[in-house]
Amino acid sequence: MTKGNINVSVENIFPLIKKFLYSDHEIFLRELISNATDATLKLKHLSNIGEAKSELGNIEIEVKVDKENKKIHLIDHGVGMTSEEVEKYINQVAFSGAEEFLEIYKDTAKDSGIIGHFGLGFYSAFMVAKEVEILTKSFKEDSTAVRWVCDGSPEFTLEDYPEKTTRGTEIILHIADDSTEFLEDYRIEELLTKYNKFMPVPIKFGTKTETLPLPEDAADDAKAETVEVDNIINNPNPAWTKNPSELSDEDYKNFYHELYPTQFEEPLFNIHLNVDYPFNLTGILFFPKLANNLNIEKDKIQLYQNQVYVTDEVKGIVPDFLMLLRGVIDSPDIPLNVSRSYLQADGAVKKISSYITKKVGDKMVSLFNEDRAGYEKKWNDIKIVIEYGMISEDKFYEKSDKFALYPTTDGKYFLWDELIEKIKDSHTDKNGRTVLLYATDADAQDSYIQKAKEKGYEVLLLDSPITPHLIQKLETSKDNISFARVDADHLNKLIEKDEPTISKLNDEDKERLKIEVEKNLENNTYVVQVEDLDSSDAPFLITQPEFMRRMKDMQATGGGGG
Ligand code: ADP
Ligand code: MG
Repeated sequence: MTKGNINVSVENIFPLIKKFLYSDHEIFLRELISNATDATLKLKHLSNIGEAKSELGNIEIEVKVDKENKKIHLIDHGVGMTSEEVEKYINQVAFSGAEEFLEIYKDTAKDSGIIGHFGLGFYSAFMVAKEVEILTKSFKEDSTAVRWVCDGSPEFTLEDYPEKTTRGTEIILHIADDSTEFLEDYRIEELLTKYNKFMPVPIKFGTKTETLPLPEDAADDAKAETVEVDNIINNPNPAWTKNPSELSDEDYKNFYHELYPTQFEEPLFNIHLNVDYPFNLTGILFFPKLANNLNIEKDKIQLYQNQVYVTDEVKGIVPDFLMLLRGVIDSPDIPLNVSRSYLQADGAVKKISSYITKKVGDKMVSLFNEDRAGYEKKWNDIKIVIEYGMISEDKFYEKSDKFALYPTTDGKYFLWDELIEKIKDSHTDKNGRTVLLYATDADAQDSYIQKAKEKGYEVLLLDSPITPHLIQKLETSKDNISFARVDADHLNKLIEKDEPTISKLNDEDKERLKIEVEKNLENNTYVVQVEDLDSSDAPFLITQPEFMRRMKDMQATGGGGG
């Protein structure tokens, strides 16, 4: 038997990192700005605890595109690196200086917002650059600046670079010929707005023209003055990082529009998430006006880690029913460099998902209790989320008796218990079960609704696309009830509480009319009921047995829920 070590050489690994580590080349910018941000946050932290003595000064990160010379510059004023540190952090692939920093300063720096983790981000630069230069000067006193250059092969040069006299790091990317798209200003601005819009250190990209307000006494034909100001890409203190008690309704709405600049409608309400044990998570979820719309293509929930945008593919992290919502979730604890199927099985992720579900349930309870009338008004726009949650998340379903509403066709809203209390004596069938009559389309089923109301029944209006699944869920979990659509044959199976009105037709006439109508119906699954002519504008009703109808409904909405 022989034992040995598998020999991994950098020559083999380098191209692999370049090619497969990140599927999206564009994330190089996110990674480099994350490093610049970390360097700045480290300096701030060291200065707070008295380990960095120099003045903080300007801490803005600057991005510059030099299209002519095919270069991108990223400049920060953070901690910088000594020559030894470059050797240690840059030349050692997969050694994370960020992790090391958090380890050394674990008592004080755990909330410092440091982003880096795997020690691989820096090398994403080689996905778009044929050569990378680092010019860097440490914050430490008497340190000399150094210059590191590498063309993506395992060879590099490192030398003193006294030309750099300012603290911090400048990364220069010599853009490769297949990546010249990144030399376009609009492309870089697009990436900065996508990934860095809420990062904690100000990021400058060029300048922009701002119009000054006209003085009050300005003449009518006065021209407004304009000035060139720094174009700061990001808002370093987004709403979700603040304490809910500092924020007004207006602040939340403004943040919503900041997050989705092309959304003009106001959100209905928001849920501020904030937990630090057993995992870290902050965020704000918004309920948009959904009505019966199940299709949301854009403006989805965005996932961040320490204020760095990661993705808006939140499947597996957020329970399915909440994917209809909007907003942000920020958690450093979501493992993102792993496959989606792993994600769904991950314990931390499961906890996150059930925490969010619980928060949404709690919020519904409090919205309902604080302002029932207001909640009822919103019901039509939120019901699809709630009903979807009821059929898919058991915990949410268990709590839903406190906030799920059952509206009637004449605009009353009941909680489940209220509804049953109201109808339990009058809506009984021959087996003693309480029958809930419902309509799915108030206009099309109007004559049936009128008929049922004449008999003194309450008719629910359950018109969302997931109604069939909700009904199935309720019937299997609540005792002694059943649902019947108002145009189904159940109506005359209910035990009538009032004496039936006297019909103008005798039984024989009724039977003949029934046979006559049935002859004209192609589909023999329908049932014809001849009713009381004087009390209704519908001389007879054509209904379909409830089970036949449901089979069709279930087929139409595709399979069972739950
Ligand atoms: P990570 O950020 O996960 O630690 P990276 O590969 O992105 O790994 O970076 C490796 C290390 O290089 C960082 O942890 C940090 O110590 C150092 N570094 C990278 N960029 C900078 C910078 N702009 N200023 C100071 N140090 C940097
Ligand atoms: Mg990094």
